[in-house]
Amino acid sequence: MIPYGKQQIDQSDIDAVVEVLKSDFLTQGPMVPRFEQTIARYCGVGDAVAVNSGTSALHIACLALDLGPGDTLWTSPITFVASANCALYCGAKVDFVDIDPATYNMSPEALEEKLKQARESKSLPKVVVPVHMCGQPCNMEAIHALAQEYDFRVIEDACHALGGKYKQEPIGNCRYSDITIFSFHPVKIITTGEGGMAVTNDQTLAERMELLRSHGITRNVTTYGSMGVRESGSKTHPYAHTPIPPYTNTPKHPYIDTPKPAYYYEQIDLGFNYRMTDIQAALGISQMKRLDQFVARRSQLAARYDELLSDLPVTTPWQHPNGSSAWHLYVVRLDLEKMNLTRRQVFEYLRKKGIGINVHYIPVHTHPYYQAMGFEWGMFPESEKYYQEAITLPLFPAMTEKEQDRVVDALKRILPTEHTEGH
Ligand SMILES: *Cc1c(COP(=O)(O)O)cnc(C)c1O
Repeated sequence: MIPYGKQQIDQSDIDAVVEVLKSDFLTQGPMVPRFEQTIARYCGVGDAVAVNSGTSALHIACLALDLGPGDTLWTSPITFVASANCALYCGAKVDFVDIDPATYNMSPEALEEKLKQARESKSLPKVVVPVHMCGQPCNMEAIHALAQEYDFRVIEDACHALGGKYKQEPIGNCRYSDITIFSFHPVKIITTGEGGMAVTNDQTLAERMELLRSHGITRNVTTYGSMGVRESGSKTHPYAHTPIPPYTNTPKHPYIDTPKPAYYYEQIDLGFNYRMTDIQAALGISQMKRLDQFVARRSQLAARYDELLSDLPVTTPWQHPNGSSAWHLYVVRLDLEKMNLTRRQVFEYLRKKGIGINVHYIPVHTHPYYQAMGFEWGMFPESEKYYQEAITLPLFPAMTEKEQDRVVDALKRILPTEHTEGH
């Protein structure tokens, strides 16, 4: 079976991991900050916080932006469920903005329309999460302008987009957002096994996320006693659903007024164990050396698909006129009106032929968990139509042209070509 995606691990990756295994630190050693610097430098962003998954990065990003009960987060229905679940972890509500049928990203027009209505009904979102679907950049300029006008915060879900560019600049520089998050799951652009990262230009947000990834514990004297992770005005902790006790400077702890002994630390918020290991970070640093190579190969294969599929009744991926995709996924839409087939028939035929095609994504609002919250089919028609027609073709850096030809041949065998169409 040719998989839809696959990591690329070479000897240098293996050596980097083995070196950590032989060292003093398996976690919380020198590799995590080094990996954070590597990503921050690549993206041209101020701060980076490594965590154990993209999902964790979304969670602490929401908490750092003070998302909690009574707040709402909006994202796209065409994404992995994690982009929406992060709001629920914080006790906030989720809603969706339909996609643009050409880009498969959140439609800025639909966003503006929904914001106008939300202003009327006093239900504006606190956070909006645009997803760079397949690696193609969202219209961040438009989303940023709306964020200014309607006063919401922006988290870019760039799990598909490390190595991509928007207006000549790396995705992840946070020019148009508060925080950008990445995933290093094996199917993504680079891998650390499991892993994720949140990047930001706001040092306060970075410090909050750093606290939250490790139990809310600080060893930094200047933050002792600060309850520093909540913005003023936020009274409720999303987990406890009870007020945070006011911090008083009463010297309850015997060392409170004296220089602290070496073992001393304080918990100043309720955080988690979302730490990345040094083993993972070493793999990430090693993978970053080949990031541009990976993206170049993906983009080369994507261009070859575009050409080979040109006489089939499929819509090949939109490409941003002033940006470049990291090509995490190569999705085509079947022109079902031109064929006597359903997406399911095409899917099953290709799977039987050993082509590991996939579907990204089942619209989040149609999952039973979300339907139980009141979401229904029909609410986001462009996303639902996309879902009926979309298939993800195999694409990964180590894919050979021969493998790609096999995919195309199988497609040509089941889909009518332009010449046979109508006969
Ligand atoms: C993979 C992915 C995530 C979650 O990342 P994990 O590292 O698997 O937790 C979130 N959003 C999108 C769009 C993704 O593709």
